[in-house]
Amino acid sequence: MTSRSGILLLVSGPSGSGKTTLCRRLADEGEAHYSISCTTRSPREGEVDGQDYHFLRQEDFSARIAAGELLEHAEVHGNFYGTLKSEVLDHLAKGRDVVMDIDVQGAAQVRTCHDPEIQTALTDLFVMPPSEEELLARLTGRGTDAQEIIALRMKNALEEMTHWSDYSYRLLSTTREEDYLNFKSLILAERLRISRLK
Ligand code: 5GP
Repeated sequence: MTSRSGILLLVSGPSGSGKTTLCRRLADEGEAHYSISCTTRSPREGEVDGQDYHFLRQEDFSARIAAGELLEHAEVHGNFYGTLKSEVLDHLAKGRDVVMDIDVQGAAQVRTCHDPEIQTALTDLFVMPPSEEELLARLTGRGTDAQEIIALRMKNALEEMTHWSDYSYRLLSTTREEDYLNFKSLILAERLRISRLK
């Protein structure tokens, strides 16, 4: 029997593309570990500290950067977000796949990281909404954000989408089920990669 090292799947795409739902479902089905990020933004209604994010005050976030605990970090929509090394490295070492919901700046930092474990593990996907109209409908339909926040997210989304060609894979969103089928196919195929076999 051959074992393999874990996959680190970075998933980016604008808010409303459905990427978080895809990542969460993969983790809920036991296919991968979902890397819980740190953020300085306030929790939305229903979000739980330690499950959705590690919600931190700015000074705590800065302290973690100073202590070298973050693999990457970036400012998105006026708040800080970052990945704890402990959410990634320990799992990969055990051969466990890790899925990360991450913005384009964070993904660029992970791609340029020199850690050989990360480089072997890495693959990345950009999830695109079917159209601008549908994206606006999804951002508005969530009903949790104020109008000016939606406008800011829409503006950022259009900028973020210009980076799709930096990624190895692109998923053009259609329906939840079809998106998930394609998403899961990607991780199944990545598990066959010879470069990660031990
Ligand atoms: P939200 O506030 O809607 O949960 O997330 C806003 C953005 O932050 C999304 O594009 C999401 O992918 C990104 N994000 C979430 N966690 C991280 C992280 O750990 N690092 C970086 N760079 N971006 C993140």
